[in-house]
Amino acid sequence: MRLPVIVLLAAAIVPPTSCFAQDLDLLIRNGSLLDGSGSAAIHADIGITGDRIVLIEPHITGPAKRTIDATGLIVTPGFIDPHTHTAADLSDPKRAHNAPYLLQGVTTVATGNDGDSPTDIAVTLALWSQQGIGTNAALFIGQGTVRREVMQMSDAAPTLAQLDQMRALVAAAMSGGAIGISTGLYYAPGSYAKTEEVIELAKVAAQHGGIYDTHMRDESSYTIGLLGSVRETIRIGAEAHIPVMISHIKALGADVWGQSTQVIALIDDARAHGVNVTASEYPYTASGSSVVASLVPRWAEADGKLVQNLSDPALHERLVKEMTENLVRRGGADSLLMTASKDKTIVGKTLAQIATERHESPIEAAIQISANGDSSVASFNMKDADIEAFMRQPWTMTCSDGSEGHPRKYGTFPRKLRDYVFDKPVISLPFAVRSSTSLPAQTLGLKDRGLLKTGYFADVLVFDPKTIRDLATYESPRVLATGVRYLTVNGKLAIDNGALTTTLAGRPLTH
Ligand SMILES: [Zn+2]
Repeated sequence: MRLPVIVLLAAAIVPPTSCFAQDLDLLIRNGSLLDGSGSAAIHADIGITGDRIVLIEPHITGPAKRTIDATGLIVTPGFIDPHTHTAADLSDPKRAHNAPYLLQGVTTVATGNDGDSPTDIAVTLALWSQQGIGTNAALFIGQGTVRREVMQMSDAAPTLAQLDQMRALVAAAMSGGAIGISTGLYYAPGSYAKTEEVIELAKVAAQHGGIYDTHMRDESSYTIGLLGSVRETIRIGAEAHIPVMISHIKALGADVWGQSTQVIALIDDARAHGVNVTASEYPYTASGSSVVASLVPRWAEADGKLVQNLSDPALHERLVKEMTENLVRRGGADSLLMTASKDKTIVGKTLAQIATERHESPIEAAIQISANGDSSVASFNMKDADIEAFMRQPWTMTCSDGSEGHPRKYGTFPRKLRDYVFDKPVISLPFAVRSSTSLPAQTLGLKDRGLLKTGYFADVLVFDPKTIRDLATYESPRVLATGVRYLTVNGKLAIDNGALTTTLAGRPLTH
């Protein structure tokens, strides 16, 4: 419809400033604003009062208690990380600030992923609320945690009574505020569950409006293979009627390099048939694991007999054979770098170096390390072509999967911007911002977050596109990222002019 000329004239003479009736608490002016939806940047100011965004206009003059000049800076929603291992950090008053995440621009984390969560969701959320946390945080209930609670480390199928007990634990967790159920079907004891058992528990989460998050059974060629695992995940989504999120999607190891093409086709096809499949990804070629998780077969961990089995002469030959195959999958002994261990003498060395020093085979060295309390490893097993192919998908989010000893806990979000947007244009800036904001907010079911929008919570990030970057490396994994100039969490400044404040403005988020 054409508007009458007089209306157009009236619009044209409205002055380019707007005043707000009440004082703003915070006014961020002159920034280049990306709202998180994937739309291009616009020049606009943002007004914040209390914990909400109350105004977004081209020119806001105030008055405001505090005004920030964001000239030359980029303003986005705070980043949302759907896969972290921060539950212990957030529960510890000394680490609850969640500084490694704030300095990446992250204002909300999900945790309890990989099937491993606190047992009592409601109690944990209440503790965070009472002690204070630096970022917002949401929790999954872990299927591995639930199975261990009912069946310990047994690799048997559950009885009907045990299955009912597990269902009840998932229901209690969902009622207590969990946003969904996570699985770590690659790990023990999660791996001992057959698909049908997982579907039964996912149905309970679905009834409560939750989602299904998975570290899949196999990201490589260990058991059912990468493609088999994607099919299993899609089946769980379809039969449990639940949105499914594939965590840290990857093609792990030479056997499956290049299979990103088939994985993407499977996911696109499932989505076209009404299964809500999404994925998250971190921008590193090394995954973070442990010697046991990456090399030792799961049967050796059953019933809590790992140490016993590792030294059992009757099992030795089978163990060495299977561990040798697994080491090939992982790219050989040069590809496993020890990043954290109670044995400090091995940290910073590859499995190959340790074996040479000890005058033994890499497998013998790995068995010793496994029997001696395990060690975290950076496992170099991915190709950039697969990482970039997954990153280009509209259903792929950014996640850190941050774990001790791997630089991703300190660098993921700035690294994605620096390496894949600014230095090498794999994806556009609006696309990258969407993958770290509105897409995870929608996927996790977080209300009024993930967009710069009037009425939404004021989780706002202001960063310098010239200086934002990760500084953590495999050799020095605990170096904080740089380039975040301002960050508000629920309207409070958590980073002010590049420096962390002492504010603990985060909140536990429930579904
Ligand atoms: Zn994982």
